[in-house]
Amino acid sequence: MTADVLVPAAPPRFRAYGPRHIDDIAARHGLPAEIRETVRRVSLVLPFRVNEYVLDQLIDWDDVPGDPMFQLTFPQRGMLPRDDEDRLAKLSADPADRLLLREAVQEIRGRLNPHPSGQQQLNVPRRDGVELPGLQHKYRETVLYFPGQGQTCHAYCTYCFRWAQFIGDADLRFAVPEPSGLIDYLGAHPEVHDVLVTGGDPMVMSTERLRSHLEPLLGVDPVRTIRIGTKSVAYWPQRYVTDPDADDVLRLFERIVASGRQLAVMAHFSHPRELATDLARRALARIRATGAVIYCQAPVIAHVNDDARVWSELWRAELAAGAVPYYLFVERDTGPYDYFKVPLARAAEIFADAYRTLPGLARTVRGPVMSATPGKVVVDGVEHTPEGAFFQLRMLQARQPGLVGRPFRARYSATAAWLDELEPDPATPADLAAAVRGQAPAPHTEGNPR
Ligand code: SF4
Repeated sequence: MTADVLVPAAPPRFRAYGPRHIDDIAARHGLPAEIRETVRRVSLVLPFRVNEYVLDQLIDWDDVPGDPMFQLTFPQRGMLPRDDEDRLAKLSADPADRLLLREAVQEIRGRLNPHPSGQQQLNVPRRDGVELPGLQHKYRETVLYFPGQGQTCHAYCTYCFRWAQFIGDADLRFAVPEPSGLIDYLGAHPEVHDVLVTGGDPMVMSTERLRSHLEPLLGVDPVRTIRIGTKSVAYWPQRYVTDPDADDVLRLFERIVASGRQLAVMAHFSHPRELATDLARRALARIRATGAVIYCQAPVIAHVNDDARVWSELWRAELAAGAVPYYLFVERDTGPYDYFKVPLARAAEIFADAYRTLPGLARTVRGPVMSATPGKVVVDGVEHTPEGAFFQLRMLQARQPGLVGRPFRARYSATAAWLDELEPDPATPADLAAAVRGQAPAPHTEGNPR
């Protein structure tokens, strides 16, 4: 007699699917030919990547194409101007046009403002006039670090403001293979106490690789906080639960916390569905058990989460998972911006309506916030005066430390979606008005920290 032996199924291994898998995905999930062709064409210009977890557990295929997770991860009609899409369709139909197709793709990408808010011109620090690769230093106390092997994500968001990191163009990419340049830079800048390791998504790296980037930071005394910017809990929670080195990465987190530093996992959640799976909740619990603190942030974007009920549910789910609701951002002017943008007036309304529904402990969230050239500007509300309506604005963070926390106002507009579309009140102090108009100081230079 043979006994039935239950063999547990092996946990899934991560595998990315891109444009060349679109026929398989379409066949499996019943995607109409028109949508499949749109994905094919738009993904010539903008990056496209999903995985099994996103396909099977996040997208509601009965609600495609309107489903928010489908909109968040699959290129859509309307993300590129119609003329561009037609041109790509024509050129990609004939292999003889391959060179023209490549030129068209480059030309369209160039028009999509690949590095918004002066990231390349204003944020990259220099030593002896030479740019230091893989670093950005915008705010006095914080340096952004882009480890070279972390410049992909488990899936790509269609609105991504860092899309230029993923298109294989070295000139448009922030990345550095190892951290010695960062450590040297920090040695010369003791005012930096916060390092944000970002990408892409640093959590795509193996634990060994991640360790090689993070451990050297533990030897830099002034660095008190290490932040990791990641969407891995939303797109591949297996990273913390069933991946072969899931336990190792948690031990690495514990080691950072044991060094006396704060480890902040800056988790990117766009929609409550991302927190609804058992795997995501287990991942969050396991991360929290290491002593790391999870802060949650995402932009408000049309077609995905431009609804106060969605944000209210999202922030409550974050709080229930022991995470801290932190930022509601405004979408930046890059990539398929026109498709996703939400006017500031509407974003402020969504924020206020959702905020009002929250229990006190979830009111840690701030927004809507523009991460703009002079700094982070929050829209606090709209003020009605005998002279007309004004946005009440405030510098939450600033390139120039003297501007931090200062309020100002700008003429109300129902359609403006970014700071540069606003007209500051003439009574705005000159330094603040200059910063808002984009007259920003030069990048950080060795020996002349700003
Ligand atoms: S996870 Fe972040 S970096 Fe990656 S595609 Fe989404 S927005 Fe971009």
